[in-house]
Amino acid sequence: MKMKDIGEFEFIDKIRNGCLIRTDGVVQAIGDDAAAFQLDAGKLTLVTTDLLVERVHFLRDATTGFNLGYKALAVNLSDIAAMGGMAREAFISIAVPVDCELAFLEDLYRGMRHLASQYDVNLLGGDTTGSKTDLVINVGIVGSVSAHAMLTRQAARPGDRIFTTGYLGDSRAGLHLILNGITISTGDYEALFEAHILPHPYLAEGQFLSAQTGVHAAIDVSDGLVSDLGHILSASHVGARLWCARTPVSPQLQRFCTQFGFDSVDYALTGGEDYTLVVTMAADHAEAARQSYERRFGKPLFEIGEITDTGRLELVDPTGRVNPAVAKGWNHFKKG
Ligand SMILES: [Mg+2]
Repeated sequence: MKMKDIGEFEFIDKIRNGCLIRTDGVVQAIGDDAAAFQLDAGKLTLVTTDLLVERVHFLRDATTGFNLGYKALAVNLSDIAAMGGMAREAFISIAVPVDCELAFLEDLYRGMRHLASQYDVNLLGGDTTGSKTDLVINVGIVGSVSAHAMLTRQAARPGDRIFTTGYLGDSRAGLHLILNGITISTGDYEALFEAHILPHPYLAEGQFLSAQTGVHAAIDVSDGLVSDLGHILSASHVGARLWCARTPVSPQLQRFCTQFGFDSVDYALTGGEDYTLVVTMAADHAEAARQSYERRFGKPLFEIGEITDTGRLELVDPTGRVNPAVAKGWNHFKKG
């Protein structure tokens, strides 16, 4: 069945079941002219939106509806995580080509509901309209954070230690497999593919870190570590040194790079869409925060470098030599 075979209202009836995942604070969910909900008292409201356009951001033929829906929501949740916030309500607007299979769209909402239920986020509304040829999806999220705990890009200070919440570069390796039509035939490939297709939003980790003493700046890795850390450096007017030998490379990425002749450190430094958090912490609190993080989550918080006052990003190679960063994707940072 195609979208043109049913009307907008019948479509909304099909996808609205299961969209209300959490009822606290919600006064009006899908079904009226507007949604109504109570914001968390005494907290700041966070809003983020992201627009995904077919043939620009995704290929409809090359993905499942489920995976597309999951990732469209995940990347928005990641932006809330990078502020140290809690995600509350999501709004999904889509422009649907008339020839779009209804099953694909139902699968797309299934992917969104699957992820939303893991993070207690409601799908509380949006808009549905027609499109000539391309599918367009806009996801907006409303979240909240305590004013004193909010993490921003502008709070890094010289002497801070830099950490990341997960491995870097896996997503880019997954994209390489997809773009080159390589069959996902091994456990390693499966893990890399999943890192690209079904990224983990670090919401719990971001909230935990934002509550720790001495945690300063944060960002999520969407464009690549070098590029995204660059946003912190320019917003905070600082520099940084990254220790290449300590950038966390997963065992599967290491084996992938050996097999294909790629540089795993380059993947870790410049590969995008890992959606890990990068945080900076005051040196005298960093070790305690790292230990309590590892106790809480049972996984490492990787220390990868330090904030400096040079205004430049420098890479320390495994022999200890310091080089200026001239990596790909490095578009946002001007030398101080
Ligand atoms: Mg971001």
